[in-house]
Amino acid sequence: MSEDTGDFEGYGGRHVPEMLEEPLEHLAEAFDGIVRDEAFLEEFRSILRQYAGRPTPLYHAENLSERWGGEIYLKREDLLHGGAHKINNAVGQALLAREAGKERLIAETGAGQHGTATAMAGALFDMDTEIYMGRKDIERQRMNVFRMRLMGATVTEVTRGGEGLADAVDTALEDFAQNIEATHYLVGSVVGPDPFPRMVREFQSVIGKEAREQSLEQIGHLPDAAVACVGGGSNAIGLFHAFRDDDVAFYGGEGGGEGADSQRHAAPLDDGSDDVIHGMKTRVIDDDTEVHSVSAGLDYPGVGPEHAMFRETGRAQYRAITDDEALDAFRTLSEEEGIIPALETSHGLAMAKRVLEETDHETIVVNLSGRGDKDMETAAEHFDLG
Ligand SMILES: *Cc1c(COP(=O)(O)O)cnc(C)c1O
Repeated sequence: MSEDTGDFEGYGGRHVPEMLEEPLEHLAEAFDGIVRDEAFLEEFRSILRQYAGRPTPLYHAENLSERWGGEIYLKREDLLHGGAHKINNAVGQALLAREAGKERLIAETGAGQHGTATAMAGALFDMDTEIYMGRKDIERQRMNVFRMRLMGATVTEVTRGGEGLADAVDTALEDFAQNIEATHYLVGSVVGPDPFPRMVREFQSVIGKEAREQSLEQIGHLPDAAVACVGGGSNAIGLFHAFRDDDVAFYGGEGGGEGADSQRHAAPLDDGSDDVIHGMKTRVIDDDTEVHSVSAGLDYPGVGPEHAMFRETGRAQYRAITDDEALDAFRTLSEEEGIIPALETSHGLAMAKRVLEETDHETIVVNLSGRGDKDMETAAEHFDLG
């Protein structure tokens, strides 16, 4: 197998029960078809323009650059419909599902962001949409649950295991196996069995394609480095992919939780080991380590297999960013630029700060993956602004 079939130098693959082999093969065939289908691609691009709000600006953050040094450019995915990059993938997969004759979308969600993006796509394409969510997450994310239901999605409580994201993934996989004829499982990041990692990469790669063109146009040359936060890794891969053959360094910031001494972190690249999880071989955090970062969107025990490969080959470097560093970057961007980033995104910004401090890279593009409106309550617990 090569990268085109989902093998990332030993990472990735399709580690699934036999009953899932065939539907995944069909999905891979459908995907291989649409990436060569100009009519499909034009419809996808058109929806991204008209509905999602592409292209997004590449913004030269001059105040932040003055504060941190270097020349910092922000790829403004926070300005998209729904407030994050997730809509690129949700629209792409829903369109593919419709094309393949599916009538129903399922997805799992932790913090609720991916569930919300899927609910948007389900409403847009008038498809039955069911979102699996751990009981604990439903309790913590009442507003997102309401949002999904408002758009017509069914939100189903998952009460097995730890009642969290990983359990919701297991439940969604079972549903998929039982309802393969009519149902598409809309995976939210570059994770899971093939073809998901390369399919989600394709739908998110618009970020880097735009950023590369905008760099040449606005800066006059490519950046020295591209930086992003890494949960499953889709916004990072989306930015990196267009620069993969360029002399542009890649850096990813993972959720490091409360810090180095803490067992509570979500940094499988910085501090995990090789294992199989959710149908793929990748870097995984130990079972007995509770995955926790200040940003719920980074709380996933695995990571996309392509990142595991990039780490292994040295093409990209990854660091665990502590909650404090992320909160500091969150506050700094808000004050300096009047842009409130998502807490996930703040890990990418904090990574950019480290890159500027520790390397001689000057011009860097940071993926501003999402806006911070959803994080106001958490932020208010950390900052007393009188
Ligand atoms: C979901 C989310 C992430 C993490 O997902 P990736 O697949 O790693 O991109 C990052 N930023 C925002 C704003 C998100 O909503």
